[in-house]
Amino acid sequence: MAGGRVSSSSPSDLLQRIKGFVRSLVEDLSNDRPPSVALDRYRNYCHDPSGNCTCGDNLPNGKEIISVERESHAYRLLVLFRVLLIIQQLLQENKHGSKRDIYYMHPALFLEQAVVDRAINNICILLKCSRQHLNVVPVGRGLVMGWLRFLEAGRKIYCINSPSTVYPIPVCLEEVVDIVSVARFIIVVEKESVFQRLANDRFCERNHCIVITGRGYPDVPTRRFLCLLVQHLHLPVYCLVDCDPYGFDILMVYRFGSMQMAYDANLLRVPEISWLGVFHSDLQKYHLPDRCLLELTSDDKKKAEAMLLRCYLQKEAPKWRMELEVMLQTGVKFEIESLSFNSLSFLSEYIPTKIHDGSYL
Ligand SMILES: [Zn+2]
Repeated sequence: MAGGRVSSSSPSDLLQRIKGFVRSLVEDLSNDRPPSVALDRYRNYCHDPSGNCTCGDNLPNGKEIISVERESHAYRLLVLFRVLLIIQQLLQENKHGSKRDIYYMHPALFLEQAVVDRAINNICILLKCSRQHLNVVPVGRGLVMGWLRFLEAGRKIYCINSPSTVYPIPVCLEEVVDIVSVARFIIVVEKESVFQRLANDRFCERNHCIVITGRGYPDVPTRRFLCLLVQHLHLPVYCLVDCDPYGFDILMVYRFGSMQMAYDANLLRVPEISWLGVFHSDLQKYHLPDRCLLELTSDDKKKAEAMLLRCYLQKEAPKWRMELEVMLQTGVKFEIESLSFNSLSFLSEYIPTKIHDGSYL
């Protein structure tokens, strides 16, 4: 539940709130007032260097007024109503649909998926609920393997019977129960290629662990699943990303959540996550040859400079911030896979050694 903002998000409560919302718009119209919607604004970081902000507390930060009087807002309101109608129908009929299904109901109006995604986020804020309460199910992208078993909608998902077999991460987390594991740690990897490498190396069998990937920027089910595992299993969690601004940003999404879904950050972030690598210092430590290094592009530099200003890095992760500064100063980046220049199985040694030596941040 989003920050404990409301007591219930049952379908009947949400339908009541939708009715109330529509009623207020009709009142606006019948009183000759241009209809407008006031949305609480949430953010998970700002650029205030003083550290005195309230980002991360899951509290609204002002309001955004969407008014039909402004041309760009009129389009947003139209999209919001259309998506709200679809969600109302899903709730009334107790059916589920994906974000993609919703997009394909009016592609000429919505133009692109991001427009629908934004409307869904706005509706969550408006109705004070989380996305799963709207009967909107994501299309899962995340993968898991390792020393783990659980029930998903009554089905036994026994990853542990074959710890190197890859399973999709469940999309309806409400249906996941009875999580059991004797793993020693959880490792989150940025990329599917690294995940596959670890599967081929039978990494989980050897290291009694659970491995997860969101295949790039993690989606909602991957982040919720990771939160669920951490809550139930109380295991240490480590994250392995490329040494570049995108890898760093992905790492931050796991730890702090994303700006788009800041209204639900408490459900979607893992503050306990440690950064295992790859660090800039691994360059010297593992004698990485120059041919494996790439120069930061101007876009990379802009992204890194903007990230350096985020308040949560100052407040909660100054050591991470320093690594980012080093990356920017040296102007080079490299991928996790480049560490395998000598041996394909290098990562299978690198990960346990780093955990054993405590060389993570
Ligand atoms: Zn802030």
